[in-house]
Amino acid sequence: MKPPTNITGAAPGWTGSRRLLRRLRDIMAGPDSAQARLDQIATLIARELVAEVCSIYVRRAGDVLELFATEGLHPDAVRNTRLMVGEGLVGFVAAQAMPVALADAQSHPLFAYRPETGEELYSSLMGVPVLRGGRVLGVLVVQNRTQRGYTDEEVETLETTAMVLAELIAGSDILNLEDARYDAVTEALPQRLEGLALSPGLTIGTAVVQRQRVTIERMLSDDPVAEEQRVRDALTGMQGQLDEALERPEFSGTSEHRDVLETFRMFAEDRGWLRRIDEAIRSGLSAEAAVQRVQDETRVRMVQVTDSFLRERLLDFEELTDRLLRQLADGGQDASFQLPADAVLVARTLGPAELLNYEPENLKAVILEEGSANAHATIVARALGVPLVGRLEGLLSRVETGDAVLVDGENGVAYLRPGDELRSNFETAMAARSARLEVYQSLRDKASETRDQVPVSLFLNAGLLADMVRLDETGAEGIGLYRTEIPFMARASYPDVAAQTDFYARVLDEADGRPVTFRTLDIGGDKALPYLHNATEENPAMGWRATRIALDRPAMLRHQLRALIVASAGRDLAVMFPMIAQVSEFDAARRLLDIELARAAQRGEPVPATIRSGVMLEVPALAMQFENLLPRVDFLSVGSNDLVQFLFASDRGNPRMEGRYDTLSPAVLNFLRQIAEECEAHAVDLTVCGEMAGDPVAAMALIGIGFRRLSMSPANIGPVKAMIRSMSVEGMTDYPEGLLHAPHPSIRSHLRGFARDHGVEV
Ligand code: PEP
Ligand code: MG
Repeated sequence: MKPPTNITGAAPGWTGSRRLLRRLRDIMAGPDSAQARLDQIATLIARELVAEVCSIYVRRAGDVLELFATEGLHPDAVRNTRLMVGEGLVGFVAAQAMPVALADAQSHPLFAYRPETGEELYSSLMGVPVLRGGRVLGVLVVQNRTQRGYTDEEVETLETTAMVLAELIAGSDILNLEDARYDAVTEALPQRLEGLALSPGLTIGTAVVQRQRVTIERMLSDDPVAEEQRVRDALTGMQGQLDEALERPEFSGTSEHRDVLETFRMFAEDRGWLRRIDEAIRSGLSAEAAVQRVQDETRVRMVQVTDSFLRERLLDFEELTDRLLRQLADGGQDASFQLPADAVLVARTLGPAELLNYEPENLKAVILEEGSANAHATIVARALGVPLVGRLEGLLSRVETGDAVLVDGENGVAYLRPGDELRSNFETAMAARSARLEVYQSLRDKASETRDQVPVSLFLNAGLLADMVRLDETGAEGIGLYRTEIPFMARASYPDVAAQTDFYARVLDEADGRPVTFRTLDIGGDKALPYLHNATEENPAMGWRATRIALDRPAMLRHQLRALIVASAGRDLAVMFPMIAQVSEFDAARRLLDIELARAAQRGEPVPATIRSGVMLEVPALAMQFENLLPRVDFLSVGSNDLVQFLFASDRGNPRMEGRYDTLSPAVLNFLRQIAEECEAHAVDLTVCGEMAGDPVAAMALIGIGFRRLSMSPANIGPVKAMIRSMSVEGMTDYPEGLLHAPHPSIRSHLRGFARDHGVEV
């Protein structure tokens, strides 16, 4: 039988590697400087692995790998030989974060010969990344003269040694001092970093770089039983802290946070994860080293995963690891961290519960190297009203605690160490924003009607329970689009009927009599659920998604409809089916609603006071079936995000398509005008709930072609209402007529000109 290839199964060569680890421990415990210890480690590894060369490369700012210590290569090469990440075999190991073991390295196409090292003498090469917290801190390499085939056990031994090295490198100041010297010039300059706007708001603050992870003092242990018990105790302590966090007042009444935290807590009980930690302990590692080892392995496996949902779950595990390590180190005493006032938290990434560690009144903004729109941390930041900018490349190597930072959560930009002029411009922008927000606030109770008294109903798009408070804040009439898939996505398992019922009932309670249009699950495509595995599709946006899945898996839709019916007992229920392409699909979905209504009636359960059902118009073909569709539906809502991508055959998420086709083009507006006319003729309520509804210029055009109901994200209500109150329908109805018959790709600038000339605030 093949020997196990990872540390979790004690491999035959283990005794040797255990001896090596003991010696490493002695070196680590010794009094020498970090550099001296690196030198000793290189010598030790070369001896224990019977290699002529052992070299330690450390990753420097600017993705440079520098030779920091060697046994066997020319001593002058130390601190002189540098490679870029990705260059040569050493760079390859760093770029891939994966080990390589080659008997004939020199014939490998990536081999990069460095004359100063004298490495032309060596044939074989084994290199492993020095990983810590998923970051590659360096590369550890051994080389042999003969063409030697390295065994899996040898690779593992080198990987375990690399873990120890990681602690040494991270815990010492060899890098910090040097980096300061190399990068002082660029680092001190002001910098503008562009990323993703994830949570809105503008902030001036002071950077607080999130603490480094705890340093692991003790890597090895001879007492696996005691170490396993330490992991169990630490987990129990961590659960207690999470329970406390869940009790915090800002999280009462908003069940998503509970979902997020409870999902997270569930990971802590994940059997596979615990089993792998136990196995690593049994192979001779301390509890801390075992937890770290399992996390490093997980991360290396997960970097290959492209699915964004799974990648975000990896963050959950990273935070869990961090917390567990802190718990093991100091009983988690240090888990919460006092932020200075005006703090801009800087981190590579944040786990879902991590923002809870900071006092909300001091946390003014968050900027991240990673981060994404659907990550739990983003959801929490939005709910807390904390501006968040993510995907800021190279952020951590450019910013230090104490630096002044300007965060523009509207445009996704962070300015580091801004000059006086920039700062004062930013202050002006902040003041203007506050003034604007005040104006919008003052419009809250004013009628949403045009200067010529035509009412235009404004609704919110929502997806979180926390969004519901925005109804009061904005004065919107109700929820025009409730994206039910969002709470599903925040969970690790399918919520049962009772959980869904509870959730929808709370949404309706919060709406307090204002109408809510629930859209049934729009999953599939890029919105993956962890518990509904579907095969990769070539064109997911046009694939097995939304109502298509629901009709193939009717139980799922029936459960959701059942929950909606119970939740709306005695109240009004409006159900909207997404991605309907044919009348028969609406019929089939509506039939399931009727079955569930009949079921409730049969069982004597209370039913909703009124029931309305309708469709999203996202697939253009549906507009060609209005004569049969419109008599059947109570309402129709234009999902312009999908509709426009299908009208122009232009992927809405593809940055290369960005700006190529404009929503404000005659093609789209002519199409929509026809829809407005037909819906009016059939007395079908018509809303636009795609992003265009929240853009004041587009909203003005929509009103001009006959739309009277718009649904948008909360932040857009103010600007759109201000526009509505400054326009008149009369002037706008005739204006686009000529333009819509001209061959313009876009009439946006014409509309802006019109607004300017007529005092319409856009
Ligand atoms: C749309 O397609 O316009 C829409 C509102 O749905 P989503 O953005 O959720 O796909
Ligand atoms: Mg859509």
